[in-house]
Amino acid sequence: MPNIDWKSLGFGFTDVNCHIRYVWKDGKWGEGEFVKDPTITMHIGASCLHYGQECFEGMKAFCQKDGKVVLFRPEENARRMMRTAQRTVMPPVPVDMFIEAAEKVVKANIEYVPPYGTGGSMYIRPLLIGTGPQIGVAPASEYTFIMMVMPVGAYYKGGLKPVRAVILDDWDRAAPHGMGDVKVGGNYAASLYAHEKAKKEGWPVELYLDAKEHKYVEEFSTSNFLGIKADGTYVTPDSCSVLPSITNMSLKQCAADLGWKVECRPIPYEEIKEFAEVAACGTAVVVTPVWEITRGSDVIKISGQDEVGPHLQKLFDTVQGIQYGLLPDTHGWCHEVK
Ligand SMILES: *Cc1c(COP(=O)(O)O)cnc(C)c1O
Repeated sequence: MPNIDWKSLGFGFTDVNCHIRYVWKDGKWGEGEFVKDPTITMHIGASCLHYGQECFEGMKAFCQKDGKVVLFRPEENARRMMRTAQRTVMPPVPVDMFIEAAEKVVKANIEYVPPYGTGGSMYIRPLLIGTGPQIGVAPASEYTFIMMVMPVGAYYKGGLKPVRAVILDDWDRAAPHGMGDVKVGGNYAASLYAHEKAKKEGWPVELYLDAKEHKYVEEFSTSNFLGIKADGTYVTPDSCSVLPSITNMSLKQCAADLGWKVECRPIPYEEIKEFAEVAACGTAVVVTPVWEITRGSDVIKISGQDEVGPHLQKLFDTVQGIQYGLLPDTHGWCHEVK
């Protein structure tokens, strides 16, 4: 067993045994290889470095109550990465190859999967980059697909912790029909400046409105937006520049299973004050309740600072319950690593 204090583990890089690496050359993917060294050597003209030919994914493996290790909805991450690869003109990684890579790399690092009861999980980061040299603007001739893993702790120790959010109208994240709906590093680069500014001024997360009119709610910089009305109606934005979050997809399904109404439609900024509960959602945390949203001199109070709404708590408990094997996996979301 590695010498890790599981309970104090955060969300950061930890060295493990190896990652898995595949190279695409001469029109096809090669065999996966385990690589111990967490560094990479590439041509200085690699297309990922100059022209941002890069995409990634984020997913998790969980050690369940009965000791089984499962991947949570890996085929959804595989499909999303295929869409991103198409959008950035990279060779898609077939779903089977993606899932096999995840199984292999988790197995090769199995002692780093946090044990059940620690609140931790194994974070899996797939990465696809253009590694062939390309100086004229064109897709590269060589690509590298990597899957790296690391143990991570419960994001918020001691339960859900509501945060305050800010809307900074001076910066946009993604344009309509740009790259907002695919998972590329460039979207993070686009939001980093505003993120640092927000953080310095006391807001841990920023919320974006649509880039065209600044009228409709889009998403947070790295997670989707969801609002819940007092009657339990689950509302989340429908927009071509929002990243289709797999967590959001799962929460919507859980809400529908609980008999709540689910609406996917444009959400005008003015409607935010009508929500009884608001949250950011994504793989890293599942849900982060948002208790206050500031836009200039406009401050919308959603709840008390330490208040977690009953609907958000229920959704969180349901998704985590399925991930840790405490609740029946009625939709077949958990993929066992045998
Ligand atoms: C990855 C990501 C999310 C969350 O997606 P999940 O599949 O739920 O992890 C939300 N927004 C953006 C911009 C993202 O990159």
